[in-house]
Parts: sequence; structure tokens; C-alpha cells
Amino acid sequence: MHAQDHSTQSLIDLGKRYWVPVYKPRELVLDHGKGARVWDTDGNEYVDFGAGIAVNALGHQDADLLAALTAQAQKLWHSSNVFYTEPPLRLAEELVRASHFAERVFLCNSGAEANEAAIKLVRRWAASKGRPPEQRVIVTFRGSFHGRTLATVTATAQPKYQEGYEPLPGGFRYLDFNDVAALETAFAEGGIAAVMLEPVQGEGGVLPAAPGFLKRIRELCDQYDALLVLDEIQCGMGRTGTLFAHTQDHVRPDIVTLAKALGCGFPIGAMLAGPKVAEVLQYGAHGTTFGGNPMAAAVARVALRKLASPAVLMNVERQANDLRAGLARINHELNLFAEVRGRGLMLGAVLNDAHKGKAGEILDHAAAHGLLVLQAGPDVLRFVPPLTISDADLAEGLRRLHVALTAYVAA
Ligand SMILES: *Cc1c(COP(=O)(O)O)cnc(C)c1O
Repeated sequence: MHAQDHSTQSLIDLGKRYWVPVYKPRELVLDHGKGARVWDTDGNEYVDFGAGIAVNALGHQDADLLAALTAQAQKLWHSSNVFYTEPPLRLAEELVRASHFAERVFLCNSGAEANEAAIKLVRRWAASKGRPPEQRVIVTFRGSFHGRTLATVTATAQPKYQEGYEPLPGGFRYLDFNDVAALETAFAEGGIAAVMLEPVQGEGGVLPAAPGFLKRIRELCDQYDALLVLDEIQCGMGRTGTLFAHTQDHVRPDIVTLAKALGCGFPIGAMLAGPKVAEVLQYGAHGTTFGGNPMAAAVARVALRKLASPAVLMNVERQANDLRAGLARINHELNLFAEVRGRGLMLGAVLNDAHKGKAGEILDHAAAHGLLVLQAGPDVLRFVPPLTISDADLAEGLRRLHVALTAYVAA
């Protein structure tokens, strides 16, 4: 037996020694959180503008989430889908009611799994219509992100995520985001079973679909009998100011995928299926051991109720205006951003040519000054704070950002 080293550095060294090194976390170890603040193992406090990649939408230690989780934890942790439990039954009904389009729900454990289910559903739907495999093509868009499993990384139209994993599954076709003409041409060429996209691209740089783009896709899908699949894993659950991002685009999707904020930090994903596809996957066609886990579902029911509430959605609008105004003020003084884009509390500050590629460096300065933010690629600072963030925490985060960016410019 030897004494355990409790220093922060010794913890980080464990990750460097034992983790498959696919991540490069900032050099700090988070210990606990409350609301929009978190503390590390050295006692430093941070304002959290990253929310665990748009996951902790109700902040940290939300009392209602905690109550739901602990109540369920004291009853039953897991049953598998060989037996029913109450939370996923209730959650499915509540998601269908909240969605205004879906008839059925498939519960799983992550975003990639939700998209994997959507991809499989598209293929089965096309197969059920007698279309041969080469006419089951799914169109996705450059800059998209749909997950890291082999099928979802193939849907993800970014070479950096795919390289070295060939052979990739077939039947995907990539087009430029917001390019209506290219999509019209592709449909005319035939064989398209679905178009899959994020209403606001997240990882690809916080890039919203252009006004009218989703509507035009819907029209083309109707004209050519294809499905519209929306990946709302990052932009959904109130993030853009409405429970679902697509209601702002005035379209009815056939499939929507959710994860991230659906569990507010407890892992869960969901695929919502509309009337055209709700009956396609029948007994034995798909499944997962943990999907609909009662603890995850108990938490997600509370998350859904609170994130759909007018109080939270109004706060998104209010804080989004303040965040945009604060970023504009900072930029007026320091001239770092070419533009600030996004919707609601999903904003990206695009670095101008003089600062291209420096997002990672800026994140280090931010952390050193008590602020956690994210990047979306090397050129975009991404702001996805808890949707319940207070005026005071938002202002304090902006103040720290100003200090950090001033230090970065001086460095
Ligand atoms: C995060 C994300 C995913 C993948 O979710 P995981 O839970 O990491 O598998 C898929 N699509 C979008 C838009 C995402 O932001």
C-alpha cells in the first residue's frame, strides 16, 4: 500500500497515463458546481459558459433534477426493456405531446445512438417501400456533426472525423449547407431517401440554417418522397429559445433526434418519429440494453418540463440579448470577431483573420481568468451557458471574458 497523491496534477497524470488519448482537456479538474458556477480541485471558481457542451441546460445541482434522480435511485436503477418501468413510459408520452409532430419515441443513451437509430429507420422505411439499397441515400451537409459511431461519423460530412476509419458505410451524400440549388440537383438525380441536418450546426462552427432552407428541404422531401431528419441534439431542448429549434423554421420533420440537454447531465438520447415512420421499426428491429433507463428517464421528465417552461424560454431570449450585446461591446474595443452568429443561447463568435486558429489559446486565457467557454473548430468561440443563467452570472462571465481577451491580445 502506498499513500494516494491527491494533488490536481497527479489526477491529470492518471488521464495522461491511462486514458486512450482521444481527448485533450484543459489542465484542470472540476469538482463540483452550483447553478452556472463550477469549482475545481484547487478551489478555483468558474462561470460556466460551456455547460458540458450544451448539456447542463438547468445549470449544476438543480434541485428538481436532484430530487427526481435520488427518488428513482432509491427505487429501481435498471430493468432493461424486457420489463416496463414507469419513467420511460411517461417520458415518451410527454415528448410526443411536446413535439407536435411525433407519434412514437425510441429511447437510447447518447446523441450518436439517437442518430444511429434515425439512420436505421430511414433505411428500413426505404426498404419497406421496395427501394433497392442504392436508392436509400441520406443527404447530409458539410460542416455537420452527427456523432462518432461508424454510421454517424459517415453522416458527419467532415473528413477530419472520418480519416483512417475506412471502409465507411455507403449510402451517404454530402452537399454544401444552405445550398438550395445543389440539393435540387441531387434530388433530380434520384435515389435520395432522407435529408438529415442540424437546424443550427454546432460543432461545425455555430452556423444556423439560412431562413427558408428547412422549408425548401421539406418541400423537396415531399415532392420526391424522402424523409426530413433533424438532429436537434445540440440546438434542441430550449437552447435556441423554443423547445425545438425547428418550430422557428416552420417545418414538420419526420424524425427528430435529441440527447445532450435532454438529461441535463444524465446520459440519455431519444429519437422521435412522426406518422410516416412511427410504425416502420417493429419487434426485434432495433434495441439497446440501457435505453429508457428509469433513472435517466426520471431526470429527463423533469428536464423536459422545466426546459419547455415559459420562464426558462424567456430567460433564453433575455440572456441571449445581453450576451450578444456584451460580445459586441468587447469586440468594439478589441476587434477580434468577424461576426457573432447563432440563435438563442447558442452563439458563436467567429474570429477575424488576424486571430484565425486561436480559439484554443483564447480558451486557456478564459479558464485562467475564471471562465469556461468552448470552441467550435479552431476559429469560433462557442457560448452555450445554462439556459437558467442569471443576469449577475452572465454579466460576471462577460466581465471575465473581457479580462481574458484583453490578456490574450496583450500576450
Ligand atoms: C453532440 C452531438 C452529437 C453526438 O452526441 P453524443 O452524445 O456525443 O454521441 C450528435 N449531433 C449533434 C448535433 C451534436 O451536437
